[in-house]
Amino acid sequence: MSVSGLCELCTQNEIVDGCDRCGRLVCERHYDEASGLCTDCLTEVEPTGDDTRRPDGVDTYRV
Ligand SMILES: [Zn+2]
Ligand SMILES: [Zn+2]
Repeated sequence: MSVSGLCELCTQNEIVDGCDRCGRLVCERHYDEASGLCTDCLTEVEPTGDDTRRPDGVDTYRV
């Protein structure tokens, strides 16, 4: 599928791909290749400032 047009988030840049979650077509600045999500969904899916994703014990660094 080829897409053309402008990013639905910034309406400034060319679309590179569609978000796997919301289906919005976004530019490279608003698309995260690793997850396949737009930056909008990325912030929802990946809570910031949260420790829950950290494996056990890793936060105990040797000083
Ligand atoms: Zn954009
Ligand atoms: Zn999205």
